[in-house]
Amino acid sequence: MRILVIEDEKEVASLVQRALLQESHAVDVAEDGPQGEEMSLAEAYDLIILDLMLPKKNGLAVLKTLRREGLATPVLLLTARDEVSDRVAGLDAGADDYLGKPFAVAELRARVRALLRRQSDNKASLLSAGDLVMDTVSHEVRIGGNHLELTSREYAILEYLLRNKGRLLTKGMIAEHVWDYHFDSDFNLIEVYIRRLRQKIEQAGRQRLIHTVRNSGYVIREPEA
Ligand code: CA
Repeated sequence: MRILVIEDEKEVASLVQRALLQESHAVDVAEDGPQGEEMSLAEAYDLIILDLMLPKKNGLAVLKTLRREGLATPVLLLTARDEVSDRVAGLDAGADDYLGKPFAVAELRARVRALLRRQSDNKASLLSAGDLVMDTVSHEVRIGGNHLELTSREYAILEYLLRNKGRLLTKGMIAEHVWDYHFDSDFNLIEVYIRRLRQKIEQAGRQRLIHTVRNSGYVIREPEA
């Protein structure tokens, strides 16, 4: 999934970025309030991690603007000060959760997983289609009980498809939710990834799960009985 980290402290931003990249997410970083606000509104993020203490415009003001503009993307606040009033103000301004600094990377990852789950129809940490099961905590994918080896990008595409099971996803949507800001939307590359992913799944499970909708995109569906 695609995540924006708005944090000016480079060490914290890169710690968060590394933790999320290990979970196969695409991550962009904004270094101040106005840049974060602009990117949040321009790109299709699945989650925004927003620090409260930011140069030029603070996190609370950014959050208020985003919600006023109607952006519904979940926001996880990072709060430096251990003050109840900051957290209350943040939650009241439309944040979905908060994490006090310093934080444990394991807790950050768990909160991100919880927020991404809350957004999708599926509240479980297991995603599935047919006999394919993805464990979003351990990152293991199994087909009929057998481990399926996927690259990080293949995993990310499959996760996005599974979170939107039954829904048509265009190449543009896949590009936006799986790749970061620097991807120049090479749709041929998406086709290549989908083909490879489909081959792996069909070799292991002998079922067609990922379907191409001509001139539109892709959908993952339960196999027909
Ligand atoms: Ca900061």
